[in-house]
Amino acid sequence: MGIYLDYNASAPVDRRVLDIMIDVYQNSYGNADSRTHDHGDKARSIVEQARKQVASLLGVNATEVFFTSGATESNNIAIQGLQDYANETGKKHIITSSIEHKAVLETVKAMKKKGFEVDIINPNPSGYVDIQAVLGKVRDDTLLVSVMHVNNETGIIQPVQELGEELSKRNVLFHVDATQSCGKLVDELRKIKYNILSFSAHKLQGPQGVGGLILRKKRYKLLPVKQIMYGGQQEHGIRPGTIPVALVAACGKACEIAEQEYIDNHEKVKLLKKALFETLDVSGVNYHFNGDQSVCIDSTANICFPGVMSEALMLSAKQYCSISNGSACTSKSYSPSYVLEAMGMSVDEIENSIRVSWGAEVPEIEFRESIEQLLEVVKSLAI
Ligand code: PMP
Repeated sequence: MGIYLDYNASAPVDRRVLDIMIDVYQNSYGNADSRTHDHGDKARSIVEQARKQVASLLGVNATEVFFTSGATESNNIAIQGLQDYANETGKKHIITSSIEHKAVLETVKAMKKKGFEVDIINPNPSGYVDIQAVLGKVRDDTLLVSVMHVNNETGIIQPVQELGEELSKRNVLFHVDATQSCGKLVDELRKIKYNILSFSAHKLQGPQGVGGLILRKKRYKLLPVKQIMYGGQQEHGIRPGTIPVALVAACGKACEIAEQEYIDNHEKVKLLKKALFETLDVSGVNYHFNGDQSVCIDSTANICFPGVMSEALMLSAKQYCSISNGSACTSKSYSPSYVLEAMGMSVDEIENSIRVSWGAEVPEIEFRESIEQLLEVVKSLAI
């Protein structure tokens, strides 16, 4: 097996996170909502500790943190959960971008079927959603704007800070899918004026199957987001169902580690990107980056090798590195990336593009070697 360079699809669990998870499974197996015994109390205190760890990383109040099964669920609650409020107020217009994750795009599509009006903004060719294009669509009946922080395929950092600033003056709710930035762009995330935020623990070296929804309070008042599933009153009814205590504890620990280490981690991933640039430069292969690298996260690169089919490249380079061409959530059935398509790239360019994404613990020597091997494969496939 080659070196793992598909961190944007899922990052390996940190050993310290795994240790917490195992400990909770072995020793704290109570239900966090059992009120009648110490085992329940113990589980509850673990969940509340995790809530504080998430809140601390994001710079929010612990009462604003709700645990979910991950960003897909969080995005669904963020959007579908506003239906009652929309019906009560007549605000039934949603704005989003065409490069959002399917968990936003498909949810918005479902809302459209229920009578909502939706404007979908295309990015410019550099993969960046223009603020004025979004603001230009805001109307009196706009309920929600949903724009991601970092795109999962290109790594392009979207102008959500400026957008949040502007939207906060306009009585429009702002949802940010921060799945690819949570634990990485920590200072930036803390500054964004959003109302709702989604993330998944597995992108910041926590386990798969847990994540968070942040609902910011406005003058101590909760947002009008309601549950979309019915059942128990867990997570104040926002996300009914038994709280997976070990997963939640692990999510909290991953956030705590990210808060302690994000500055060092950033330096490390930056060095790896530099190594990628250098290796590409000296290789003599024909390539270009997709998306403006001056606004790209340092742990992702989307690269086009003209004349080299990405499917062939990924298969032929499998023994050297695990990379991808698009989002894992849509990669079962091959269709050209809708993100690159929205950026105006031709089908040929899209079919010649791959995504490489990495984390701080990837050793630089192995990283360089695997990129060199990948580029040798590129040369052998180039037509
Ligand atoms: N949003 C973004 C930007 C993502 O990258 C992902 C995962 N690829 C999701 C949402 C969905 O996360 P999950 O599959 O963990 O629910």
